[in-house]
Amino acid sequence: MRTRRTTLAATVAIASLALAACGGDEADETAAGPPVAEAPEFEPGTTMAELAEAGTITVGTKFDQPGFGLENLEGEVEGFDVEVAKIIAAELGIAPEDIDFVETPSAVREEVIEGGEVDMVVATYTINDERRERVSFAGPYYVAGQQIMVRSDNTTITGPESFMENPDATVCTVTGSTPSENIRPYLASEQEQLVLFDEYSQCVDALSNGTVDAVTTDNVILLGYVAESDGAFKLVGEQFTEEPYGIGIERGDVAFCEFINETLAENEEAYVEAWESTAGQVEGAETPELPEPAPCS
Ligand code: GLU
Repeated sequence: MRTRRTTLAATVAIASLALAACGGDEADETAAGPPVAEAPEFEPGTTMAELAEAGTITVGTKFDQPGFGLENLEGEVEGFDVEVAKIIAAELGIAPEDIDFVETPSAVREEVIEGGEVDMVVATYTINDERRERVSFAGPYYVAGQQIMVRSDNTTITGPESFMENPDATVCTVTGSTPSENIRPYLASEQEQLVLFDEYSQCVDALSNGTVDAVTTDNVILLGYVAESDGAFKLVGEQFTEEPYGIGIERGDVAFCEFINETLAENEEAYVEAWESTAGQVEGAETPELPEPAPCS
């Protein structure tokens, strides 16, 4: 299954076009997804009617998070968030190849929704009150929890409490993420111990080359990196937060929020298949049940 994708950087877009042009018929690792609705009808003036009419939807997601949103060598994005977006698009009559996936790092998610650059964000995006002041959320469609990842030979850091006892130990996470806030009370010195990058893959590189001692974010994101690390990384300690993942949309678009919640509830089979073909492939990742949606506002 081929999905259209764009990026804000023109050079990368050109490079990926070249890649897409010479891509072969690789095995399809994504879920089949629900059938694409044929000419669905929506109340005029709603976001659903506009999107269905346009026949395309722009979705902000991650491009560097295995299992959730990861750009492959052909320039297509794969993962659970990508599949969730496909389920919603299908109900709008939009085929996977007509979804425009745009790379959306943690810190810019509210901004791209507010600016109308994307129609929705599906990007390991925790629902919380601070973000609700700027955007609305459908879902949750999954509940993760923050944890710590270290190099496999590390025996000093055994959980978030270890940073207080080891003031020389550094921990990396991403600007504008909930983990970057939640980790602070566990640190002896934010100045000395907290390292912030734009994307988790940069933290993972820093962990690999010894620049930092740990990476912290949601357990399921970390599990994807552990799986790719060939034994180099491990998770330590228990999860110490709850991170309900929502679908970010324009603030106050209650009808679109309710439509997304209904769509997910009506497509539980596709939801489970989406998980099992992506994040669920990773050891330690249990198939979730679709959580009860929060009221739309
Ligand atoms: N779920 C957390 C958040 O929304 C961490 C993952 C991420 O940065 O995407 O901030």
